[in-house]
Amino acid sequence: MFDTMGRNINYLRISITDRCNLRCRYCMPLEGVEKLGHDRILSLEEIARLVRVAAQVGIRKVRLTGGEPLIRKNISQLIGYIREIPEIDDLALTTNGTLFADMAEELWGAGLDRINFSLDTLVAEKYKYITRQGRLEDATRAINKALELKMEPVKINTVLIKGFNDNEVMDFADLAYNRPLHIRFIEFMPIGDLKFWNRENIISSSETMNLIKRKYKLIEGGKTIKGSGPAKYYTLEGGQGSVGFISPMSNHFCGECNRIRMTAEGKLRGCLYDKTETDLKVALRTGAKDEDLRQIFLKTINAKPDKHNMNSGWGAENHRKMYQIGG
Ligand code: SAM
Ligand code: SF4
Repeated sequence: MFDTMGRNINYLRISITDRCNLRCRYCMPLEGVEKLGHDRILSLEEIARLVRVAAQVGIRKVRLTGGEPLIRKNISQLIGYIREIPEIDDLALTTNGTLFADMAEELWGAGLDRINFSLDTLVAEKYKYITRQGRLEDATRAINKALELKMEPVKINTVLIKGFNDNEVMDFADLAYNRPLHIRFIEFMPIGDLKFWNRENIISSSETMNLIKRKYKLIEGGKTIKGSGPAKYYTLEGGQGSVGFISPMSNHFCGECNRIRMTAEGKLRGCLYDKTETDLKVALRTGAKDEDLRQIFLKTINAKPDKHNMNSGWGAENHRKMYQIGG
């Protein structure tokens, strides 16, 4: 369905849990999130019903995210439910990957189409530092497993933070050259744990690209990469994978934004960075009919802001964190 700006809104990102097995410094507080009853978050059946309704208003692509989606019990069952919805032609997952290797076959068998792994560093001690409790070997085992199973495309999300991993840009580019991996460099956004965020730590996509160009010839639009969304992709001449740049801070892509988002608690949002949200859980649990839910989706799409205001410092008063909205 087209919104008031003429954007075709066909992509729903769902945070299926706000809990996580890691504590990335820029995303989650050390103590994690408050443990409340299971009733607080949508059940798998409720999520599936909402996706069915969303499909009626034009949603075709769904991404499961979190928190860490792989800690949600029975995620494969949810994948199966969504797979049964004929209109949904693309079902993807964003994960830190640490639990993935042992679940890979099950997830694929259930009908997952695509996977994005988050990986900010290739150095074990730095991985432990940034995630506070993760092990790099678990993340790399996951990526190797995805490649072994010939999952295509395998994307890596790398948030660049000056002073932390800017000296690894070339190592990531080398990885994209040597293996069929699609590395997406993401500009650091003022959302999440703001004590860690700092404007001076942002590395713009153009800086990153210029650095990579010193070693590799970048070819724009060399290959079609499924689900290329806001990233601008370049293949590296002679290489196997690609590098992509996601530039929410230096060059917002709101004019091409095709997504809406749902939190684990069932709050529907038109934008990562807008405060407006509508409570689907209350509607669901007070007997809303599909038509009532459909109207909530329509209202959210129609009220989708024309652009985010991340650069104007709204982050400081953002009460929803990245692990709640799903990135
Ligand atoms: N736990 C899963 C993972 O890490 O992939 C899914 C949820 S996580 C919130 C989704 C993505 O958001 C990750 O790639 C993470 O690095 C990114 N992210 C979190 N906080 C961010 C920030 N302040 N700026 C840019 N990206 C951020
Ligand atoms: Fe967890 Fe992902 Fe946030 Fe890291 S970025 S704390 S893995 S939700």
